[in-house]
Amino acid sequence: MSNEHASCVFCGEFVLHIPGWASSVPSYRLMRATWQEDHAFVVGSLHFSCLRASPARSEFAAEFAQIATGHGREITYQAAGETQTLIQPGLGYVEQIFRGDECAIHRSDTRDSWLVQEHAGPWYVLDRPQLEDIAQGKQPRLDPGVERIVLPREPMANLADATLPELLDSLGVTDRYPDLAAGEPEYEFWKYFAPKRVLEYAVIATPPLPTEADVFLRGYAPGYRPIDFDALERDEPRS
Ligand SMILES: [Zn+2]
Repeated sequence: MSNEHASCVFCGEFVLHIPGWASSVPSYRLMRATWQEDHAFVVGSLHFSCLRASPARSEFAAEFAQIATGHGREITYQAAGETQTLIQPGLGYVEQIFRGDECAIHRSDTRDSWLVQEHAGPWYVLDRPQLEDIAQGKQPRLDPGVERIVLPREPMANLADATLPELLDSLGVTDRYPDLAAGEPEYEFWKYFAPKRVLEYAVIATPPLPTEADVFLRGYAPGYRPIDFDALERDEPRS
């Protein structure tokens, strides 16, 4: 949840967070913009369609994958003429279970969580409910909960009654969400605080997983064994 006005780090346009079509990179991730000469950090929201279209998509994807598939690492960079050292945290998706032409899938070694990352950059986190949906032959639905966001300008008059396509259209960003209808988004208006232009809303959607990932997961999900945390504790040596 963010109170910030979100503009895309690539196109500068407003980002309405819709699972599978947009995301954000928080500052604590310490993700470097390795494609920039000064090695700045990537912080902020982005449309996945802008990431796919960016000349920097491969570098973005590589840096994101380094963070996602590790347990943290030391990074160094130059600032104010000095070498700075930081510990970049990792997300722990260490076990690769699939790699194809379009994407890779990694499993967390500490949680029942999977990360599908397109080689073009966009990523999708699937947790146990989504794997159970897939195992039952259903579409996995992503439900990030209520988002709070500052609109970039005065919204349309009937905001509380607007559909998601109408809202995106009024914000001028419809084309940043290609094939959104295929994700069967369920949009719910919660509240609008006009003095600060704060919109609270929720969207549940099916992420646009690459076909090869969908095919793999439909074979994988029925047989996956959830992490047995009780067994992990039993195996822990007593002190
Ligand atoms: Zn964008």
